[in-house]
Amino acid sequence: MTRLLIIVILFLIGTRYDQNMFRLRVWGVRGAVPSPLTPLVLQERIFARFNEFFEMGFISASHVKEFVTALPDYKLSGFGGNTSCYEVYTKESRIIIDAGTGLRELGLGINHDRSPKRKRECHIFLTHFHWDHIMGIPFFAPILNQEFQIHFYAVQPELEQVVRSLFRRPLFAIPFEELPSQISFHVLRPREKFLLGDFEITPYMLDHTDPCWGFRVEYQGRVYSHCVDTECFRVSRKDLGEDLALYSNVDLMVFDSQYSIGHLLQKSPSGHSSATIGLDLAIREGIKRVLFTHYNPNDSDFQIHRYREQTREYYEAAINRLSETGRRVHQVMWDFAREGTDIEIG
Ligand SMILES: [Zn+2]
Ligand SMILES: [Zn+2]
Repeated sequence: MTRLLIIVILFLIGTRYDQNMFRLRVWGVRGAVPSPLTPLVLQERIFARFNEFFEMGFISASHVKEFVTALPDYKLSGFGGNTSCYEVYTKESRIIIDAGTGLRELGLGINHDRSPKRKRECHIFLTHFHWDHIMGIPFFAPILNQEFQIHFYAVQPELEQVVRSLFRRPLFAIPFEELPSQISFHVLRPREKFLLGDFEITPYMLDHTDPCWGFRVEYQGRVYSHCVDTECFRVSRKDLGEDLALYSNVDLMVFDSQYSIGHLLQKSPSGHSSATIGLDLAIREGIKRVLFTHYNPNDSDFQIHRYREQTREYYEAAINRLSETGRRVHQVMWDFAREGTDIEIG
């Protein structure tokens, strides 16, 4: 009897967790242009890891799994080569933010998803129209499937014109008018809450080379904040003004970290930021967790790893410095994103 009761309680907890699920999955982490792992780089990594395997004293095939799963990302798989694409999802609904080349693989999964809980509709929010944020659209399988309704959203009024232009001959074989899916466009009002099912989505302005809007996504009291692409040169609360809301009471923030702080100082104005700036904001505003992304396509996985190590040193020094003032210091969970990162929000 007791056993049955425990099973029922665990089932109810599991169901409740499932219903409250609010997650982010990363499909594209690069800025500017895709940067796939080349066969030569992959081959060099495999040679180097085999050497390490034997140098560490492993001799049996049964040790391979243990060895490979313990490898840091930069030593084998890397961070990923697709451009900007993020899926924010619950058990029954999803929104997609940015439509870089990561959208292609996401689209294949959506196309084959026959779950009765999922409607055959897609909601794609665009921060801006630089190539790395839109080039996945023509290769998004649901847009070529008559069963789907596709909704595009952006603050910029050029939204429809831009998306239509991607399907123009001779750039693409199927003209926009002949696409089989049902496509509609929604121009959002700046800093005004937009309701989509259980999601509340509010666009706030980012600091980029062309107009670019981040999104604050709320679901059952939890908050996701999307801050890509941005140089984030407005940092103080006064300068941020109304856009401060993008950083307030946030559970998970995705933040532009294309450059190390050294590179950023050399390149400014660049339209992109650095992890150190995101961390300063997160510590000050009490953001729970930060995922850094939008890596420079010219940076190797090892260079990105080095930025992560520099960021760790910066973070520890910042926390120590603030702790010396005697005030309570907010600790931030943070990491650098890789394709396939899938985490709970809140
Ligand atoms: Zn970008
Ligand atoms: Zn951009």
